[in-house]
Amino acid sequence: MEPSPATRVTCCIAGCGPAGAVLGLLLARAGVDVLVLEKHGDFLRDFRGDTLHPSTLRLFDELGLADQLLDVPHQEAQVLGVTTDAGDFTLADFRRLPGRYRFLAFMPQWDFLDFVVGQARQLPSFELRMEAEALGVLEEGGRVTGLTWRDRAGAVHQVRARLTVAADGRDSGLRRVAGLPRREFGVPIDVLWFRLPRRPTDAPQSFGRLAAGHLLVLIDRGAYWQIAYLIPKDAVDELHQAGLGRLRDSVAELVPFLADRVGELRSWEDVRTLRVQVDRLRRWFRPGLLCIGDAAHAMSPIGGVGINLAVHDAVAAANLLVRPLRDGTLATRHLARVQLRRLLPTVVIQLGQRTIQDRFLSPLLAGRVPAKGPLVLRALRHYPVLQGVPARLVGLGVLPEHVRTPAAAAAPAPAPAATPTWAGGRPASGS
Ligand SMILES: Cc1cc2nc3c(=O)[nH]c(=O)nc-3n(C[C@H](O)[C@H](O)[C@H](O)COP(=O)(O)OP(=O)(O)OC[C@H]3O[C@@H](n4cnc5c(N)ncnc54)[C@H](O)[C@@H]3O)c2cc1C
Repeated sequence: MEPSPATRVTCCIAGCGPAGAVLGLLLARAGVDVLVLEKHGDFLRDFRGDTLHPSTLRLFDELGLADQLLDVPHQEAQVLGVTTDAGDFTLADFRRLPGRYRFLAFMPQWDFLDFVVGQARQLPSFELRMEAEALGVLEEGGRVTGLTWRDRAGAVHQVRARLTVAADGRDSGLRRVAGLPRREFGVPIDVLWFRLPRRPTDAPQSFGRLAAGHLLVLIDRGAYWQIAYLIPKDAVDELHQAGLGRLRDSVAELVPFLADRVGELRSWEDVRTLRVQVDRLRRWFRPGLLCIGDAAHAMSPIGGVGINLAVHDAVAAANLLVRPLRDGTLATRHLARVQLRRLLPTVVIQLGQRTIQDRFLSPLLAGRVPAKGPLVLRALRHYPVLQGVPARLVGLGVLPEHVRTPAAAAAPAPAPAATPTWAGGRPASGS
């Protein structure tokens, strides 16, 4: 089918996950016209991760939206604990953090995205198209000048944009067609995700359960527990062969209060496998194209940092790109600055995750746990002040961003949509 004539926007974003939605909101708020394309019809998909960290809540505070965001039903955890055969330990104490937000907020990702998109839709320069799948990039003279996308009826369209952003997640098709090189890191774990009902007599909040050969994380979602069950890499087939009963028995043994309801896991359909992957693009950009969020760096689930990194990428991109997007001077050096700004947090956190995976989780899944509990947990118990360190690393991260983009009302008028820089899809000042 022939593509329909191209539409033009200043920025086109592929993917409306946390990275794409927040970037769309910030650009539109600053008066940049932005089109976000999302291939799904809604945000109600599989469990994707729920944690909003204090640094992310602070960003919404800076936007004046934190109170409204926290009106969306969620659970809060001030302390993260781990139960072992040697007793209970505190892993991180968020009450030791500075500032107003001294807790993790667990909010279903679809509710978070609905909230962000709901705010963005109030802005005249924001447009979101659902069931719109980005297919490939448009190029002129080595520069990405937009993308092609398919609507729900199968019709193919073109969008021309000063900037195209790939925020299409860890299996990003755009970064692949754009030929951006990727570095993959070995990962020794995969994760099974499932949910079981939660009762008032259960543990009062989210916690981890650690035993020789096993680690479970139970996330309090109000009416149910969202449970992560760690397994060695690629062990899922073996587990399937052993049968679902083996998984049910293991969960009941590790968390006895769940024994009366593990039968609710009726088939493997109720259990999703997350094949954990950790990777990073060597270059996050090409002239006219920028990758952010999981498309630039897939994170391990350790610490539940993926959403937060994606949101901070979006804030950094908006901070650095609003001005050149508005005045038509966007050049490749501006895109390079986004990578430069976000590389250190990404590298540090991935390094930390890989160290925990290799030094702690691999021995644990192989059954090697000291009878008195892991040394690090004992140290945290002995010196409670240290419980602020993981809280800081997880809750605030490295180089947290601040919103520096203006709201459109306070900003100078945006450049006219059709400036000479658009002629032939080439910018006035390029790469
Ligand atoms: C099972 C699981 C559990 C997780 N747990 C946590 C957690 O507890 N805490 C945490 O912080 N992180 C967690 N994560 C990671 C977190 O979900 C991601 O890091 C985060 O969502 C990344 O945001 P993103 O916007 O970069 O990408 P994504 O959230 O992957 O969003 C990409 C979007 O692009 C869309 N898309 C894809 N291809 C196209 C296309 N061609 N055209 C248009 N749209 C497209 C997708 O539908 C999606 O909406 C978890 C991930 C998984 C899978």
